[in-house]
Amino acid sequence: MASTNDLETNLNLNGMRAAIAQAKKSEAEGGIPIGSALVYHDPVTKEDKILGQSHNQRVQKASATLHAEIATLEVAGRLKADVYRNCTIYTTLSPCSMCTGAILLFKIPRVVIGENITFLGGDDLLRAHGVELTILDDINCKEMMTEFIKKHPNEWNEDIGEKDS
Ligand SMILES: [Zn+2]
Repeated sequence: MASTNDLETNLNLNGMRAAIAQAKKSEAEGGIPIGSALVYHDPVTKEDKILGQSHNQRVQKASATLHAEIATLEVAGRLKADVYRNCTIYTTLSPCSMCTGAILLFKIPRVVIGENITFLGGDDLLRAHGVELTILDDINCKEMMTEFIKKHPNEWNEDIGEKDS
């Protein structure tokens, strides 16, 4: 997929705009710059509503599991299966195996991913389960992660369960 610098095209997506804002908030707090948002599409009114948005909280909360997507599902709270099935989850980075598992568990049918170049998670597994994936290949998302990994390689390894190099 061609890389795009077209902010408007990508940020047109309210969910991705929210996810990127969350990633930048995390970065400003000294955390890992990955954000996410869960958007519900009302099947009757056709309106979209953000049910939750958050960011990686590994550094901020010394959490082992609060990746952006999990943190977002936590913020959205307990939801019925029907709700998840009318949702799209936006994430600035390809979801890891844990987050992929949560998406599959709740049968969220669509995932919009900012980029999957700096880290490739469960994209293939999601597709194999019929989840619709949109990869934006967004330059902002790539730059945030590239910078973070360069500055904090050990924190990044920790986040994805890799040994320090
Ligand atoms: Zn994850």
